[in-house]
Amino acid sequence: MSKADGSWINWFVNLPSNEFLCRVPSEYARDKFNLTGLETMVDNFQDTLDAILDSEFDIEYGFDRDADADTHPEMAEQVYGLIHARYILTRRGIMDMCLKYQRGDFGICPRIFCNEQAVLPLGLTDRIGESHVKVYCPRCQDIYQPNERCALLDGAMFGCSFPHMFFMQLPHLLPQPPSEKYIPRIYGFKLHELALLPPSSSPSALKSKEELELDDFEQFDELQQIEEARVLEDINWSNKKRYNFTID
Ligand SMILES: [Zn+2]
Repeated sequence: MSKADGSWINWFVNLPSNEFLCRVPSEYARDKFNLTGLETMVDNFQDTLDAILDSEFDIEYGFDRDADADTHPEMAEQVYGLIHARYILTRRGIMDMCLKYQRGDFGICPRIFCNEQAVLPLGLTDRIGESHVKVYCPRCQDIYQPNERCALLDGAMFGCSFPHMFFMQLPHLLPQPPSEKYIPRIYGFKLHELALLPPSSSPSALKSKEELELDDFEQFDELQQIEEARVLEDINWSNKKRYNFTID
């Protein structure tokens, strides 16, 4: 990770709500080649960049000092976010994010069968101001809402490609796909796959309403009979146990 200083960047990345962000080295942000094309995406780009790279940011007064009077906190976040999205695709940026990933800074997958797999942040679009950050689980390969503290970060600060570039660079970190899958059951019995489809997409949708109601009723009736038999068996077993106990 790059060295901390008294700049706006240092203050900004240390806010608890920005825990997903890594610190972009100032030498990367000063290199015009790295920023090609970004200057047209945010108003007042160059002045804002100078202000966020200034090594003496005043936390108490923010950007209100004369030299930075035209810098708005929102613009500063946008400029930093766009540079951050580019930086984390570089080799050094991926290593910075890898440290955070292995430390669990981005949280874990909420899916039970992913066994607390660490996740990575990503955006649904590369354009700033369109959607908030999401997290990607490399085990189930799905996306989820991040923890509440970081949920308001702009997704474009990470971009759509980041998790996939990360694992292309570090394929040994890719986890095995989940070995277990949730199986819906009623009274311990697996449901037929047609019972899991909404009525409009199952073949039974072609049946008449009366036929459908009759099918539902018969299925429910059958399941209820199975459960009643099981309860009866439990009672018999319990009586037998009590009887045996009395005999002893
Ligand atoms: Zn998962």
